[in-house]
Amino acid sequence: MIYKSLKCLREQIRQAEIAYDRKPGDVLLLAVSKAKPAEEIASAYQWGQRHFGENYCQEALKKQQELGAFDITWHFIGPIQSNKTRAIAAHFDWAHSVDSLKIARRLSEQRPCELPPLNICLQINISGEQSKSGINLDELPHLCKLVAELPNIRLRGVMAIPAPETAFEEQRQPYKELYQAVAKLGDPNLDTFSFGMSGDLNAAIAEKATIVRIGTALFGAR
Ligand SMILES: *Cc1c(COP(=O)(O)O)cnc(C)c1O
Repeated sequence: MIYKSLKCLREQIRQAEIAYDRKPGDVLLLAVSKAKPAEEIASAYQWGQRHFGENYCQEALKKQQELGAFDITWHFIGPIQSNKTRAIAAHFDWAHSVDSLKIARRLSEQRPCELPPLNICLQINISGEQSKSGINLDELPHLCKLVAELPNIRLRGVMAIPAPETAFEEQRQPYKELYQAVAKLGDPNLDTFSFGMSGDLNAAIAEKATIVRIGTALFGAR
């Protein structure tokens, strides 16, 4: 079952890379395993999947313990509360959902010194919806500058969850705008665009996604 959906997703990503002039292998498939048991992670792993994304810290730590022997790259993609930064800094390789200088500072301070810097993305509230997390696009240049100075995290790029749209052109629009805003900063360290989920991955790949975060299309409904 997982094998089939993994194969299908890999094919879909490959086709989208071709269709939108992306280099082969440009787009990383991040398997979003929130609400799914460790056994399902293990079976995706068995078919070659190595990057997994989790939203809830406690849930993730438990699965990490069960999967201790696996060579997994763990991505934190959920909202980050201050009281969770220590655990995230210690147990993840990436955090996609950093949305304040305060959280970035804590992650840097709390990153264990024996580990390489934590890779982070700034989450941008691209559709301007008040209830969603993320910084506004106009704060990006200033925050990038401050975050880039922190020693134990490495600013890699941006993440966004636009308001859901069904039409392809409408799905593309916010990603396009965000990509252009980042490109304008001209910082070669910003090489990561964490764009796209099960419902809009083609549009995200068309607009330069380098990581697509896929849950439902891989593991089924939650
Ligand atoms: C749940 C989640 C996903 C995966 O969503 P699907 O629609 O199930 O693919 C991606 N990104 C974030 C931040 C999520 O919380």
